[in-house]
Amino acid sequence: MSRFFSSRYEALTPYTPGEQPQERQFIKLNTNESPFPPSPFAQRMAREAAGDLQLYSDPTCRLLVETASSKWGVDPEEILFSNGSDEILYFSFLAFCDEKRPAVFPDITYGFYPVFAQLAGIAYEEIPLDENFRVRIPDYFGCGKTVFIANPNAPTGIALSKEEIEHILSSNPDSVVIIDEAYVDFGGESVMPLIKKYKNLVVIGTFSKSRSMAGARLGFAVADQALIRDLNTVKYSFNPYNINRMTMAAGTGALIDEAYFKRNCATICENRRYLTEALAKLGFETLPSSANFIFTKNAKLSGRDYYEKLKEKGVLVRWFSKKRLEDHVRISIGSREEIDILLKKTAEILEEEK
Ligand SMILES: *Cc1c(COP(=O)(O)O)cnc(C)c1O
Repeated sequence: MSRFFSSRYEALTPYTPGEQPQERQFIKLNTNESPFPPSPFAQRMAREAAGDLQLYSDPTCRLLVETASSKWGVDPEEILFSNGSDEILYFSFLAFCDEKRPAVFPDITYGFYPVFAQLAGIAYEEIPLDENFRVRIPDYFGCGKTVFIANPNAPTGIALSKEEIEHILSSNPDSVVIIDEAYVDFGGESVMPLIKKYKNLVVIGTFSKSRSMAGARLGFAVADQALIRDLNTVKYSFNPYNINRMTMAAGTGALIDEAYFKRNCATICENRRYLTEALAKLGFETLPSSANFIFTKNAKLSGRDYYEKLKEKGVLVRWFSKKRLEDHVRISIGSREEIDILLKKTAEILEEEK
């Protein structure tokens, strides 16, 4: 820290992203990216947009918003796009929390929530998951705080039902409830249709995972118009041109090419079942996942050892040192070929342990 660094951020611990090695070629199953390239149509639209990069991008994202509006059955005024969903999550902390309304989220969830709260100077409470790594719904009833829940949750992959989320929404009419649906396309149930019924609901999504666009940075919020206006107040106070032209065009193309998206999601779900079953035969216990990753452990191997030995063999997975998580590793669902390599290396590691 330099002597010039703001005293406001002295205690701030930034988020640690998963490793993104640029030198050696790893089988990358550590950051929940898609193993598939973006839709060819989305790529073509991005290339065409590159010819107009001398001009600022459209701050209203009109074409993208209109396309999303017709695909998702919500009004254009109920949608706001952002530079990755991380950005709109941060905007939500700024817009919907203050001294009277601190934030609340599970103790085991997306690691960015406490970082955003700290950066925004907002108090937060972390509520423990139950012994099966599930979110305990009643803990959030009438809590009087701004609720952040990832559904499916990370890094567990466990999803809540629409009814469970409705309970949280209806018992907190005076608080905003933010549902982060980064992984919903892999088997969860989206609560997007509930925005008409609950004026306190913000649904956040991303093109990073199910639409293979992590490198483009595109996220969104869907909510009642009044909440979207609040988020726009924050956006226009920060960076009106937060989405670049190529990303905007690629996002529009990805929405139009729905068949490609659906096919890839189905393949990931199929590969998830294949991987979970194969690991079970090797003695692994895996939490029930509705996401494009699994959270798994083996009594014969510590999470850390498994992670490190896989890395030596050229396969990257994610390991978290947090006490309750340290026995597990999180494995992103790759292509069938990547999974087969992971399984082969895993069998070797278990053999070497004997
Ligand atoms: C990946 C992820 C995001 C953010 O993704 P962006 O790439 O910023 O859109 C948000 N929430 C959760 C739970 C995630 O895992």
